[in-house]
Amino acid sequence: MRKFVIIGIQGSGKGTQARLLADDFDLVHLSIGDIFRWNIQHHTKLGANVKRIVATGHLVDDELVERVMQERLALHDWNFGFIIDGFPRNVRQTEFFLESYDIDGVINLELPDSEVERRVLARRLCSGCGLDYNLIAHRPKVEDVCDVCGSPLIVRADDNPDALAVRLREYREKTLPVIELFQRKEFVATIDATRSVPEIQAEIRARFGLHLPAP
Ligand SMILES: [Zn+2]
Repeated sequence: MRKFVIIGIQGSGKGTQARLLADDFDLVHLSIGDIFRWNIQHHTKLGANVKRIVATGHLVDDELVERVMQERLALHDWNFGFIIDGFPRNVRQTEFFLESYDIDGVINLELPDSEVERRVLARRLCSGCGLDYNLIAHRPKVEDVCDVCGSPLIVRADDNPDALAVRLREYREKTLPVIELFQRKEFVATIDATRSVPEIQAEIRARFGLHLPAP
């Protein structure tokens, strides 16, 4: 059983790295972002609540995140372990989490603010089918038009410099004490996330001694 926590600012590729690790090592990817996105897409009450909060550029409050993640963890549907993404969010949640779960370690993806801005402000979203684009990494074939459904691409309401500056500040203020607490109790691998997806993944595996069994 392997249990990891992954921490990384927006644009650090945290979700991608978590999924790559989860796929190869049969871990369940417990992502607060994915849970919220599912609820938004399915027009649940929770989804409407989350949508309203992020439109103002703020982070969803800790109590809501905690409640949703506790419910998710209570399913106990992992046989080989999990990688938890987007939780815990504050010191109290971290203390509680560490009392309840033995973890193998924390993956901390680091990105300078200037690089976060460059990446996040390049994001686009299809107004028709909801597919994500990125003008740096995943450009549409025709400018501002979805490859799949032909609808116009839009910028998310919360992907503007002012909202992003608020999120960056909130993130740094809240995440630093969480990382410090983890560092006192667990192994934290801080990894430079400015590199390519495969390079970052290789370093995560090297730092935690994760090797795939020979085929
Ligand atoms: Zn589309």
